[in-house]
Amino acid sequence: MKRAVIVICDSLRADLITPHVAPFLSEFGQRSAQFANHRSVFPSTTRTSAASITTGCLPARHGLLGNTMAIDEGDGLVCLSVGKPDFRDRLLRATGRTLHRPTLAERVSRAGSATIAISNVSPGAAYFLDPDGFGWVYNPAGSFGPGRRPLPSAEGLAISKGDAGDSVATERFCEEVLRARIPTVALLWLSEPDYTGHHSPLGSPAHRQAIASADTNVRRVADTVAALDPSGEQILFIVGSDHGMETVDETIDFEGLLIEAGLKSAPRSSDVVVAPNGTSALLYFADPAGVLVGRVARFLATQEWVGRAFVGPELASAGLPTDSPMQIAVTLKSDSRTNPHGVAGHSWVVRDPLEPKDNTGFGQHGGLGKNEQNPFLFISGGGFAPGMRHEPSSLIDMAPTVLRHLGLPATAMDGQGLPAT
Ligand SMILES: [Zn+2]
Repeated sequence: MKRAVIVICDSLRADLITPHVAPFLSEFGQRSAQFANHRSVFPSTTRTSAASITTGCLPARHGLLGNTMAIDEGDGLVCLSVGKPDFRDRLLRATGRTLHRPTLAERVSRAGSATIAISNVSPGAAYFLDPDGFGWVYNPAGSFGPGRRPLPSAEGLAISKGDAGDSVATERFCEEVLRARIPTVALLWLSEPDYTGHHSPLGSPAHRQAIASADTNVRRVADTVAALDPSGEQILFIVGSDHGMETVDETIDFEGLLIEAGLKSAPRSSDVVVAPNGTSALLYFADPAGVLVGRVARFLATQEWVGRAFVGPELASAGLPTDSPMQIAVTLKSDSRTNPHGVAGHSWVVRDPLEPKDNTGFGQHGGLGKNEQNPFLFISGGGFAPGMRHEPSSLIDMAPTVLRHLGLPATAMDGQGLPAT
């Protein structure tokens, strides 16, 4: 029986996979198809990435526009964290739908097969892998079976983020999911090195240890896959990350600047709402066709911290919708300066009033910076030949690649099945 196994090492930059820090991944990359020009989506946030991986579509089509989003629940636009356990329900109530495109779990379920995902990142990032409950999703905030039936806590995933929790999740993934339950698609989403990267400098001893943790857990899964399918013909094994990270330079109070410039009336006003996404921000307008959009765009053109602003029709070129209240997306300025640990890449970030902490000198992502747009992708089994591949690939190519291996159609996706050779 053909099946697919996917492991995501959250935030692991391709250039930080070195033999010293990640000995297994370095070696495994050599005997896999290794995609040298693999890119994330925009915003390069975990929750948006999860939706793009599972739908094979850009945010323009799946509709999940960041780690935060502004939605109107009846009192005007308000910015909410997509990561909270209840965001999926609030989005459904406010807009009548979750993701706008079918997920891998839905497509596999309609073909009579099962999907099991174990995710040790935010509940939002976990639930948007399968928001309508076609398969199983396990997350510490609550786990669900088909039909979004809540699983009893004894069957749940009582773990914390970081190495210890990831190790428990990996053990369960290998023994219970891969060996015993044998779903057609199995996905493991590790919290490291993202969790540590947000709280320590990139390349520091703590961050290197977090990469080593992910390396060890991928090795366990790879050993299990090799034991179950020595020929590599049945199991398509995909290992990658959702995005990389930049080092946080300065934090911009985007909302405060708009108020100061007379472009926003008050912190909680819904005339223009800033949805902070780390090194990027998306702006939602009460009147998406109104003159305020142009006024804010002209203001942004004067700001040194703006890397690039996509306004109105330009959003399409960034993979974002043009027909929603979100009318401006900004990626903040990044550069290639190295940090004290020799890791290249800094970026300004947007202050998040929902999580107002100072992360200067630590890792962050969300924008179009070179390093946050540098996830890795290794594919083995399923006929994939080892070797470096230079054609462009993206998160949105993973689902169609899985579906092709399973012999299922990958219709109406933005991504394309990656050629095995
Ligand atoms: Zn992530």
